[in-house]
Amino acid sequence: MARMGSTDSDSEFAKYWVEWFMSLEGNEYYCDVDEDYILDRFNLTGLNFEVPHYQKALELITDRLPDKPMSDDLRDQVERSAKHLYGLIHARYIITARGLVKMLDKYKRGDFGRCPRVYCQGNQLLPVGVTDIPNQKAVKLYCCRCEDVYNPKSRRHNMIDGAHFGTSFPHMLFQVYPSLKPAPSDQRYVPRIFGFKLHNIAELHRWQDEQREQQKQRLTADKK
Ligand SMILES: [Zn+2]
Repeated sequence: MARMGSTDSDSEFAKYWVEWFMSLEGNEYYCDVDEDYILDRFNLTGLNFEVPHYQKALELITDRLPDKPMSDDLRDQVERSAKHLYGLIHARYIITARGLVKMLDKYKRGDFGRCPRVYCQGNQLLPVGVTDIPNQKAVKLYCCRCEDVYNPKSRRHNMIDGAHFGTSFPHMLFQVYPSLKPAPSDQRYVPRIFGFKLHNIAELHRWQDEQREQQKQRLTADKK
């Protein structure tokens, strides 16, 4: 049994690597990926090109790394690779039926926090990547009411790779569970000075709405 940086007497460490990974501060957004999903090579296609020390990292994740001596440097690299590999597998897993159910539970528990926008009235957020390319952008939080993304409040969440969640996840979730999607928020803050609306700002919002509408139409046209 390979343990992460621990001795046998160290009872603080979990028995299983995934359990340990999930317990790390900042990793609350991740769900535990079923071992049989990880062990199905078909699900991991192409990841061997993305992650250095792929084989060892995979063995570490699945608690199958032989207890052979390894230099500290190599162990560090394998541990780093294991975390990244788990994240990339996670991104694939959470858009499967089983993964969606697990993330849905976390969503319902409010594990991802609530939208800071006043008119969203504390709507629950979902993690999302703004790109699927690893090591580019940290994870963001998506609100389905205002359809906008936010930076997580805590610094440790801002260190998580957005590619470990992917760009499709929240949208896939609402495709599969459309009844969970609340009506979009049409309430909008109107800037006023002594009760009078600021005309030009209202105009700017209208322009933004038009642009958004046009963009939507372009995207739907592209899909056809
Ligand atoms: Zn919102």
